[in-house]
Amino acid sequence: MTTGTPTTTTGIPSWSGEEGVRRARDLFSQTYGQEVGGARATPPDGVWAAPGRVNLIGEHVDYNGGPCLPIALPHRTYVALRRRPDRMVRLASDDAEPTRWEGTLDDIRPGGDIPSWVGYAAGPAWTLGQQGAWLGGFDAAVVSCVPWGAGLSSSAAIECAMALALDETHSLGLAGDPAGRATLAAACVRAENEVVGAPTGGMDQAAALFTREGQALLLDTLDGSVDQVPFDLGRVGLALLVIDTRAKHTLVDGQYAARRATCEAVATREGVPTLRQLPDPQATLARLTDPVEQRRVRHVVTEIDRVGRFVALLRAGRYDALGPVLDASHTSLRDDYEVSCAELDVAVETARTAGALGARMTGGGFGGSAIALTPTDRVDAVAAAVTDAYARRDWNPPRFLVALASAAGGRVDGAHR
Ligand code: ADP
Ligand code: MG
Repeated sequence: MTTGTPTTTTGIPSWSGEEGVRRARDLFSQTYGQEVGGARATPPDGVWAAPGRVNLIGEHVDYNGGPCLPIALPHRTYVALRRRPDRMVRLASDDAEPTRWEGTLDDIRPGGDIPSWVGYAAGPAWTLGQQGAWLGGFDAAVVSCVPWGAGLSSSAAIECAMALALDETHSLGLAGDPAGRATLAAACVRAENEVVGAPTGGMDQAAALFTREGQALLLDTLDGSVDQVPFDLGRVGLALLVIDTRAKHTLVDGQYAARRATCEAVATREGVPTLRQLPDPQATLARLTDPVEQRRVRHVVTEIDRVGRFVALLRAGRYDALGPVLDASHTSLRDDYEVSCAELDVAVETARTAGALGARMTGGGFGGSAIALTPTDRVDAVAAAVTDAYARRDWNPPRFLVALASAAGGRVDGAHR
């Protein structure tokens, strides 16, 4: 593998495309292949994949109309899918509980009595139908090397892989151009919001469908526009170390919705649809009397500004100056937005002490992952220091991966690329 990959046993492996395809096909034939009397296993129509992502900067601004800057991970979710002549839907994922589900297209809807993972996997079928697409039933097998609930967006990976599979098997013709991909991304966001009931923004699905290798994706969530920004750390002897804290604080389940509600309330009071559209952010901040509202809005306003600075530095090739911007983002998320936690703070602080140029929590917070911009030759030392810091506190051992900016989702079994 590339230099800078942690050699500790704690790395989260990613599969090659071939391995993902093989595993998806294997699960498909184990699950659905026997029914033709064993004489001839019926193959899937194809295998599609979509990546997890890590956000470089622009956190908790996607639902405020702000910009964010994710890269796709080499870690992907693979879906082997076969269209059916009826309206039945059958799903298999050995990582899920229950591992198998069977129903009809009519069962997949908001408020439907389906396991949560089925909402992620099949939710896009409901939304695409709502958007006017004609969809029939399907059999699908899902395999993934994107860790769940680590803030690396296994949810958008499964939604987008499934949406890409449905698009091609039903000849919707959406995946081939940016406008169509935007329709697929919107269908996946709506599935997560309405079928699963998770009020998330649009960053993860855009990352899964619009990223390019060696580039970060600048997504402007105000108008949905995207731009590519060079992100090639290896060239300058740096690596992006992702630290999965493996902490998940379940007592804070309503916090994401609460942050969102606070932002929306202030925007409404100020007469704008989103905080991004505040005509004079500083004047709004000066007007706010509630200290909590003030802190939340200050995070959003300053984070939007940091994305601009970070992108300008990247475009200028000033990789050496990125660290303090990451650090400032973490401080803002910890103190103003109050979405960090002890595990994230220790990961970030330890990484810096061990040689990272800058570090911050990434994703929604309250657990999940942190990122550390690290000289390649310090990656192992940083990973070891964080592992030690966790062991001293009797916390679960963290896991690591080195994020290389990878490509968006698509068909991966060779045909119709
Ligand atoms: P994250 O996106 O940060 O990994 P989420 O809570 O948003 O965490 O989404 C995780 C959920 O997505 C899982 O609990 C599960 O319901 C669904 N999911 C993700 N990957 C798979 C998979 N391979 N098989 C089945 N369900 C999956
Ligand atoms: Mg998610």
